Parts: sequence; C-alpha cells; structure tokens
Amino acid sequence: MSSFDLAVIGAGSAGFSAAITATEQGAHVALIGHGTIGGTCVNVGCVPSKTMIRATETLHHANAGRFAGIQTSARLTDWSAVVAQKDELVARLRQSKYLDQLDNYPGADYLSGPAAFDRDGLLFDGAPLHAGKIIIASGSRASVPAIPGMAEIPYLTSTTAFELEELPRSMLLIGAGYIGCEMAQMLARAGVTVTIACRSRLLPEGEPEISDALRGYLRDEGLTVLDGLSYERIDKDEDGIALTVRSGDGAETLRAERLLLCAGRRPNTDGLGLDQAGIDTNGNGGIAVDDRMRTSRTGSTPPAMSPAGINSSIWPHTGPRSRPKTPSTAMACFTTTMPCPPWSSPILRSPPWA
Ligand SMILES: Cc1cc2nc3c(=O)[nH]c(=O)nc-3n(C[C@H](O)[C@H](O)[C@H](O)COP(=O)(O)OP(=O)(O)OC[C@H]3O[C@@H](n4cnc5c(N)ncnc54)[C@H](O)[C@@H]3O)c2cc1C
Repeated sequence: MSSFDLAVIGAGSAGFSAAITATEQGAHVALIGHGTIGGTCVNVGCVPSKTMIRATETLHHANAGRFAGIQTSARLTDWSAVVAQKDELVARLRQSKYLDQLDNYPGADYLSGPAAFDRDGLLFDGAPLHAGKIIIASGSRASVPAIPGMAEIPYLTSTTAFELEELPRSMLLIGAGYIGCEMAQMLARAGVTVTIACRSRLLPEGEPEISDALRGYLRDEGLTVLDGLSYERIDKDEDGIALTVRSGDGAETLRAERLLLCAGRRPNTDGLGLDQAGIDTNGNGGIAVDDRMRTSRTGSTPPAMSPAGINSSIWPHTGPRSRPKTPSTAMACFTTTMPCPPWSSPILRSPPWA
C-alpha cells in the first residue's frame, strides 16, 4: 500500500496550495485529482469569468460616451473568437500555474483519479492509500434549485454559459449572488437582454445598501432586476423558457430564450463516502466542522490511516483572498493522535493562503 504523510483530495487551487505548503515543510504528499487539473478557478471560475468580464467591459466603456468631445464606439463581431481567446488563456494558465508546478515540488505525487473513504480509511481509485493526514479540497458545483418543471429544462450553469459559441437573444438568470451578478452584467454588455429573478435581493450575503446600489447600476445598464420572488414553476415554450414567479404584486411569467442557473454551489462530497468514514455533513452536503474547522471524525481507527484516533480540521476556501461563512468547499485535515510531524502545526493553525 502506498504511504504518504499527507493526502490532499482535490487538485484545485485549494488542493494545490495545501500540497505545496506541506511539501515546502518536508512532507511527502499525495495530491489526488479527479477531473480537469486546476479545478474551478482556472478552468471554469475566476479566470474565464474575469476574462469575459474584461472583454465585454471594452464594449461598455466604448459605448458609454461619457466625455464631451470624444466619440467612441465598439461592437461585438464574433463571440466565438472571444470564447476561443478565453480558452487559450485558460489552457495556458492551467499549464503554467498547475501542471508545470508539479515538477517544482518533487515531494508531491500527483495521482489522477477519484479518492473516497470506506470504513477502513482512504481509497485512491478503489485501492487503499495510507496517509497520516488527509485534507479534503473537493470543491463544489452549481446547484439546481428544486422548482417544479426543472427536470425538463435545458439550463445553463456558469460553466456551460462560458462555452456558448453563440449568444442567445435573451437570458433569464435564477439567483443573484456574485456569480449571478457578474454573469448578468457581462452578458448584458455583450448585447443579451438579461432578466435577473431572485428570491431575496442581489448579493444577499452583503449589506442591503450594496444590493440597492448594485440594482441601480444594473438597471441603468438595461438589465431587468426582479427580487423578493418565489418560483412557482418553469416550463419550455416555443421561444425558450417560461418561469412563473410570485411576488407581492401577484403571479407573473418571465420568458427568455435561455435559462442560466446561478442559485448557489453544492459541495462535491456525494461520492466521497463521508458517511462510511463517520464524517458528519450539514444540510447542503458540506462537511460539518468545529471552530478550528475539524470534522466530526474522532476516536475511531481506520487501519489505512492510523492505529489511533483521528481528529480533523476543515477550512472553507473560495479562492486565495476570500473566506466565506459557509464551507461550500471543504478542506479537512485529519490528524492522528500520534505525535504530529513538525510540518503539521502551521497547516493546522492557519490555512495555507493566510
Ligand atoms: C464563475 C465563477 C467565478 C469565480 N470567480 C472568483 C473570483 O473572481 N475570485 C475568487 O476568489 N473566487 C472566484 N470563484 C470561486 C473559486 O473559483 C473557487 O472558490 C475555488 O476555485 C475553489 O477551489 P477549490 O480548490 O476549493 O475547489 P475546486 O477548484 O473546485 O477543486 C476541487 C477539485 O477536486 C476534484 N474532486 C472532487 N471530488 C474528488 C474526489 N473524490 N477525488 C479527487 N478529486 C476530486 C474536482 O474535480 C476539482 O478538480 C469563482 C467561481 C466561479 C464558479
């Protein structure tokens, strides 16, 4: 059986960050990645979104005409070329920031395949793998809201919306967190007629004053922003989709060519076998943690990991600079009750990006 000081499940930005930090302190690390190396940020998150936002910002600024005596204009001629340029940047950064980095950290072995737990400990690709500590950094994916009729609707998520070779005439967004708001503005600036339909308000985790101000800016740019709604049902119609919503003013049907779901993210914990490992989850599938981000897994003895008990820690991660209240992405560190190797303390005391 392969044996490592640390196993990191998930080779996204959090997993890489954790693995690099541990190798720098002398640990022999198994970095286990399933899916495209680099995970969300470089492939389908920060990098593609900020690229597309910046691209459409040039249209916006050129057409805003804010200064007397200066005439500018710009128009979109080929959306597929914008998408291709974004894809090229993503591929380049995935290579330089992730794949190439593996050579720089010989203490980390990259293992391509799924990790999971059974009652005896950690499995890689179905086979036992021994690690003194385990960090779970398995990321998240777009969640699909439970609206009657949704099963029949060909919806987009932020991931698939970035792949569209042609823009639709109109887009209805469900949800208005930061991903929904930035996608909505980017699409509107590219010429799509955008409607945002949300249950509470824009950026519901932020201050209400920020929601109000942002709603004003987006409306000034021509977006329709509808908040305080409940979703009654969704259907296909001849022009696309029809979402029936209810507000204080009664029921209303919103129509658009395409639907984009930005209704939050769901942790990738389903296939991990957390229940078998005795790791508690919360209502949305995220890993329940204590104030030091340790999981509930204590005191048992999985032979593949340690003959002693297990403590564990979790840090949420949404990128290098932000730390949300809710761990949509979970990083858990299991620590045996045997003496920790010297590199473990800094990892446990502070998250790798702090
Ligand atoms: C559209 C969008 C825009 C964003 N913009 C920003 C931004 O501007 N700034 C910012 O800070 N953040 C942004 N984020 C958030 C940021 O991308 C994520 O918080 C961050 O990428 C999460 O990193 P992670 O390593 O925790 O997870 P991920 O990057 O998702 O990596 C997890 C990896 O684990 C793999 N995995 C899952 N299960 C297993 C398993 N069982 N075994 C092995 N591997 C597994 C997954 O396939 C994935 O590759 C954005 C996100 C999105 C969707």
